[in-house]
Amino acid sequence: MHAEMSPEGRFEARELPYAYDALAPYISEETLRFHHDKHYLGYVAKLNELVLDTPFAQQPLEDMILGSDGPLFNNAAQAWNHAFLFDTLSPRPQKAPGGALAEAIDRSFGSVEKCREEMTRAAVGLFGSGWVWLVADGAGNLAVRSEQNAGTPLRQHLRPLLCIDVWEHAYYIDYRNRRADAVAAFWNVVDWRVVGERYDHK
Ligand code: MN
Repeated sequence: MHAEMSPEGRFEARELPYAYDALAPYISEETLRFHHDKHYLGYVAKLNELVLDTPFAQQPLEDMILGSDGPLFNNAAQAWNHAFLFDTLSPRPQKAPGGALAEAIDRSFGSVEKCREEMTRAAVGLFGSGWVWLVADGAGNLAVRSEQNAGTPLRQHLRPLLCIDVWEHAYYIDYRNRRADAVAAFWNVVDWRVVGERYDHK
């Protein structure tokens, strides 16, 4: 589901799975054009450059994320994280979790509202650039993890279900320094159907 290997053994960027203006007014067309076409495509291009002549040249992206560090890790993880993020959002989202995910959220947080509040608090409070993740452990219990920069819970062998990008490039065009407003708007376009499918497919 993430960047695929092309026949040349290089990573191909994923297209945005909806129109650039589809998430407005919560995320503007201009933000999505910069976020997808400049930032995400930039990470994929840099990854393709860096991976040549490394032991990872033919390896799946996930192996590179687990086994590399420095610039190769940063660009590999950012490529993965952004494809995962764009897939999470939808102009016609399922507004609330259902099924096994809803049960796990109630078990781990008390309610979906408390889960959203904990993720929001983590996103607003994260110093600098990074990601806030909703993750599942091997037993199916959920937790919120904050990661700096390109950080991903894959490195802790936790299963990512949902992420919030708190790099300034994700919101500065629309919200300037008002990260809390950007996070509040973000929840309107999270497709809980996608998050639930990730939880079900262990
Ligand atoms: Mn980003």
